[in-house]
Amino acid sequence: EIPLIELRELEKYYTKRVWPQKGQVLRAVDGVSVSIRKGETLGLVGESGCGKSTLGQITARLLEPTGGGLFYKGEDIAGSGSRNQQDLRRRIQYVFQDPFTSLNPRFKIGRLLEEPLKLNRLGKAAERWSKVSDMLESIGLDESYRNRYAHELSGGQRQRIGIARALMLNPEFLVLDEPVSALDVSVQAQVLNLLKDLQQELSLTYLFISHDLNVVHYMSDRVAVMYLGKIVEIGEMEEVYAHPLHPYTQALVSSIPAERAAQKRERIVLQGDLPDPSAIPSGCAFRTRCMHAHDRCFSETPTLADVREGHAVSCHLWSEESYSVNEIKEVRT
Ligand code: SF4
Ligand code: MG
Repeated sequence: EIPLIELRELEKYYTKRVWPQKGQVLRAVDGVSVSIRKGETLGLVGESGCGKSTLGQITARLLEPTGGGLFYKGEDIAGSGSRNQQDLRRRIQYVFQDPFTSLNPRFKIGRLLEEPLKLNRLGKAAERWSKVSDMLESIGLDESYRNRYAHELSGGQRQRIGIARALMLNPEFLVLDEPVSALDVSVQAQVLNLLKDLQQELSLTYLFISHDLNVVHYMSDRVAVMYLGKIVEIGEMEEVYAHPLHPYTQALVSSIPAERAAQKRERIVLQGDLPDPSAIPSGCAFRTRCMHAHDRCFSETPTLADVREGHAVSCHLWSEESYSVNEIKEVRT
């Protein structure tokens, strides 16, 4: 089956132009290959600065990659010269963390929602009006919201409008970039549940980006863990949550409060900070913070490889014959 979205060896490199870093190359996204199936939610988790948003923006075609391929239903869409540009823009939409910054403060909500239709010359005025009504209903807001301004709304309501605006053109795929991170915890669940309901109702596919593994766990079918521009682990959400293989994922998972006693894990506290992305360590980029780092980690960069079916990890521990899976588990638990 052809995936809805496929990233192949995607890269986004920036060359710094300003002294004292002039000429240094920042590898924001460094050879990412991942497929997203129709109807699923792929969670993308990692610390801020690891390249998640850059990857999301490339996937939504808001940024051009400097290398690699981006495919939509098998068609290469990375080049700006590709056909169906307008059609593609409609099918893939991006929802920002803080919709307030992307909502024009001078426009009423009704106009903000109608705008994407107008820009794409879709529908007559009466049709656009009723589409806005339907959309307000879908996101749980009544008609009176048409005449309000974004600044009159709560954070949760504004994010509902941000989501509604992204849905006005009937997209198939949404990149959700930290969609609840700016919201109070009490409001987060409402917005997440709305996203789940909309996904069902409209057969949507999501790339769900968050630094919060708890939120990603709630939302995702599969999860990809990103560290310094690379995917270091990917698999089914429950599998990765129960059996994290990469030392970085193990640290992230260990920081989640356990729901049941059986899930209790020892907290692994990461040493040090995320290294400067323009000075990525040689060998394994995680070695400066990894308690299992050994000689090979300094000289050789690990690659993402399947350890179990559908569960891949990028770490030398898993490719070394001297370690068996069980031995590693003992070391870790
Ligand atoms: Fe740690 Fe080495 Fe694995 Fe990197 S390759 S995560 S440094 S053990
Ligand atoms: Mg970000």
